[in-house]
Amino acid sequence: MKSFARILSLLKPYMPLVVLAAAFNILTVIFSIGSVGALIPILNLIFDTPGIDLANIPAWKLALAEIVESYKAQHGAVKTLYVTVIVTLCIFILKNISRYAALFTLSPVRNGIVSYLKQQLHDKWIALSLRQHGDLKKGDMLTRATADLNEIEWSMLKGMEGFVRDPLMIVGTLVLLFTMSPKLTLLAIAIIPISAGLIATVGRSLKKSAKKAQEELGQNTSALEEVLTNLPIIKAFVAEEAMSARYAKSLSAWTRHMVSVFRKRDLSSPIAEVLGVSVLLVVLYLGGMEVIAGRSLTGGELIAFVVLFYQLIPAFKNVTNALYDIQKGNASAARVFEVLDMEEPRSGSIAPKQEQWQEDIIFSGVLFSYDERPVINNLNLTIPSGKTTALVGPSGSGKTTLLHLLAGFAHPQQGSISLGSLNLQDTELKAYRQNLGWVPQQPLLFNSSFAGNVALGSTPDIPRVAAALEAAYCTEFASNWSAGKVIGEGGSSLSGGQRQRLSIARAFYVDPKLLLLDEATAALDNESEAKVQQALEGLMKERTTVVVAHRLSTIKNADQIAYIEEGRVIELGTHAELIEKGGKYAALVNLGDLKAE
Ligand code: ADP
Repeated sequence: MKSFARILSLLKPYMPLVVLAAAFNILTVIFSIGSVGALIPILNLIFDTPGIDLANIPAWKLALAEIVESYKAQHGAVKTLYVTVIVTLCIFILKNISRYAALFTLSPVRNGIVSYLKQQLHDKWIALSLRQHGDLKKGDMLTRATADLNEIEWSMLKGMEGFVRDPLMIVGTLVLLFTMSPKLTLLAIAIIPISAGLIATVGRSLKKSAKKAQEELGQNTSALEEVLTNLPIIKAFVAEEAMSARYAKSLSAWTRHMVSVFRKRDLSSPIAEVLGVSVLLVVLYLGGMEVIAGRSLTGGELIAFVVLFYQLIPAFKNVTNALYDIQKGNASAARVFEVLDMEEPRSGSIAPKQEQWQEDIIFSGVLFSYDERPVINNLNLTIPSGKTTALVGPSGSGKTTLLHLLAGFAHPQQGSISLGSLNLQDTELKAYRQNLGWVPQQPLLFNSSFAGNVALGSTPDIPRVAAALEAAYCTEFASNWSAGKVIGEGGSSLSGGQRQRLSIARAFYVDPKLLLLDEATAALDNESEAKVQQALEGLMKERTTVVVAHRLSTIKNADQIAYIEEGRVIELGTHAELIEKGGKYAALVNLGDLKAE
């Protein structure tokens, strides 16, 4: 129940509303019990059993009976009946007003907590490192932010409402019943531990099933998400049936768990009802004997006792349901908190000074592994300021990883990367990245306007957006960009080359000190290729640039080329120097593996 306690702690900012709702709930309980109590004089009037002459009669009942009797003596039975009915009606109306007022007060609390958790999840995902995201499944994460949060709202927060009202209802009703007939009431209470024991057993097993079901739902959504993303490949490789079977497998596991959840949850009502009705019948039997013997109850009072008792049953049912729901919601809350508790990557606190960007970036003895497997292996490299360094080498040699390390997406396990005297580990990453331009191999675009994509998140500075689009040769397809037209999901309304140029415009907009560039390997037509190339050259000019290069022209123009193999720099020099050397780089160029244009 730790997660439930944490959800409760989120109530703190809403304390005034919670207290108000609790007050309305107390009123509801008072009116609710009072409305049934008000039935007693009505019934006594109808049956003409005033109840003043009973052997054992509690003070409140005697006082009530005397008031009714004296009113009846003055105004007659019919008028008295009329007045008692009106009074009862008023109490019922008040009960319902206060019940609604309690719900009315709590709804901003319920929705507030859910939206708070949604925002926290969203911000947590953004804060986690790309490496941590590698271990998370998108569909599962989305399930946590949707289905799990819904579950928390419906089970836990709804359960909490009942949690204030119904126990009060139970206590209040029992007190009243006790004054009416201690013997009958004690009998009713005796059944409570039996119910509690039964219900707790089923509750524990329900929690297990609920957790499994939510986990399976996460897998399920991941599979769906993957299918939607990879649809063309699935069709082209005729993998429809395999995908369908994979989905069916996950779905059947989910169904199995859900069926078990439903069955266990549905068990709570029958258990509660059977227990309740058994007690009720015993009460009717023993109470009926009291009435027949003319001891402590009139017939009307026994009916009121039974009605009150019947009010207890739904209250008990609500409490047990709330207990189940909280167990169920607890499983979801645990999944949400699991993400919220993930440790965020540490960031240093030193913001790089402007003049530091004039200094070289130095990799010294850098070691970086994924899952214990070294990808960067004791790498030493100096990236000169204001110059272009091209990273070349076989695929899988660690070039992209080097860019990721430079962007601070992850830190080396050994060795250091430093900007002048500043170790990247100690750098405040946000301040560092504000000077960073990143052009990934696959342009990552948002379904918003050109300006929105270029300025990404910040309010677009229109003249700067215009200059960036111009510099990246985007104006021919984005001539009316200022109209705010959106570019479709992932830039679907643009061609491949256009998307790349828009991604370059984004880097121009930042005017970065350090440019990280993963050159696209995807072939474009000659004209697009030339435009992208031109845009890139403009961007790289007089900037510290590290480019994972695939085009011979980019490499030839670079100030230094680092040939990377198995996470180490094997050769370093200019194009001419390395050709002269006749090593691995020269072999690569001679093989014609690099794209000539
Ligand atoms: P390159 O850019 O030179 O092709 P990468 O830097 O992308 O190479 O990858 C280097 C190695 O790291 C590859 O063997 C790849 O399998 C591995 N790798 C890359 N990303 C991950 C990851 N998120 N988890 C585990 N291994 C990874």
